[in-house]
Amino acid sequence: MSQIGFIGLGIMGKPMSRNLLKAGHKLVVYDVTPTPVAELAAAGAERGESCRDTAARGDIIVTMLPDGPEVEAAILGTAGVLEGARPGSIVVDMSSISPMVSQKVAAACAAKAVEFLDAPVSGGEPKAIDGTLAIMVGGKSEVFEKVRPVLEKMGSSVTLTGPVGAGNVTKLANQIMVACNIAAMGEALVLATRAGLDPEVVFNAVKGGLAGSTVLNAKAPMVISRNFKPGFRIKLHQKDLRNALLAAESMKVSLPFTALAQQMLMALMNDGKGDLDHSAIVTFIEHMAGIEVKKS
Ligand code: NAD
Repeated sequence: MSQIGFIGLGIMGKPMSRNLLKAGHKLVVYDVTPTPVAELAAAGAERGESCRDTAARGDIIVTMLPDGPEVEAAILGTAGVLEGARPGSIVVDMSSISPMVSQKVAAACAAKAVEFLDAPVSGGEPKAIDGTLAIMVGGKSEVFEKVRPVLEKMGSSVTLTGPVGAGNVTKLANQIMVACNIAAMGEALVLATRAGLDPEVVFNAVKGGLAGSTVLNAKAPMVISRNFKPGFRIKLHQKDLRNALLAAESMKVSLPFTALAQQMLMALMNDGKGDLDHSAIVTFIEHMAGIEVKKS
């Protein structure tokens, strides 16, 4: 059983690290916030004193942090992972960040003979708790094979999609499809409601056809019942689409629908809705039509 250092015990990292503990791994945990560290320590994990200390005590070091700046601070910064990690150890960054940052961090790891994988996840808190996340991995296949048994304790689908950065490119592709799906659903339901139709009847009529999707099944009932409790927050999805647009610009690719969705998310954040579920993208379209999608 590998010894694992786990850094970042937020909504996702806390249940993911609990699953590693349940599977019998020796775990050292660290977060800048003490409360989740104390909870994991009560469940049998050891406390790390810093990112450096946590890395020094693991063969595999997992990070699950909000975005690129936090990942750079935790891995490359003062008292960071690279000050403690032993040559031959493996850093697995499971945060959703820019693929360009993954490549920068991987190069810094390589200079210290430390391996690196980017391995962002899809599925949200419920799947983090159940250990059934979809995990998309970028890196060398021999390193992936060493880490795969650990990732399989946290996810039911674990896929190597290419070299370092490929995990985050795949995650960004996922986030583009989800955001544009929600926005299209919003336009469709606003139109149907303005036409005097019951949106629930429309949803049930189309869900078995070509427009049916996991996104539609998960998000249409939330919109119709006006339940925007997160799930996945608007501000995190805005961050993902911003990273998608930055990556696209570096490759001279235009993503017009992604840009539009990102602007809607930004406007919703400025409207105080950043902590609502991303299904609240619909409220942007409702606002333009002066109508609310709800059961008649
Ligand atoms: P979160 O904000 O709940 O947790 C992040 C944790 O990192 C916090 O506990 C914070 O204190 C800690 N942290 C920040 N900087 C640190 C540092 N320098 N050193 C140590 N700890 C530090 O975020 P989350 O919802 O758990 O998301 C984590 C990542 O997973 C994000 O990239 C997010 O986009 C992605 N993700 C989230 C979901 C979701 O539904 N929440 C789903 C899929 C992917």
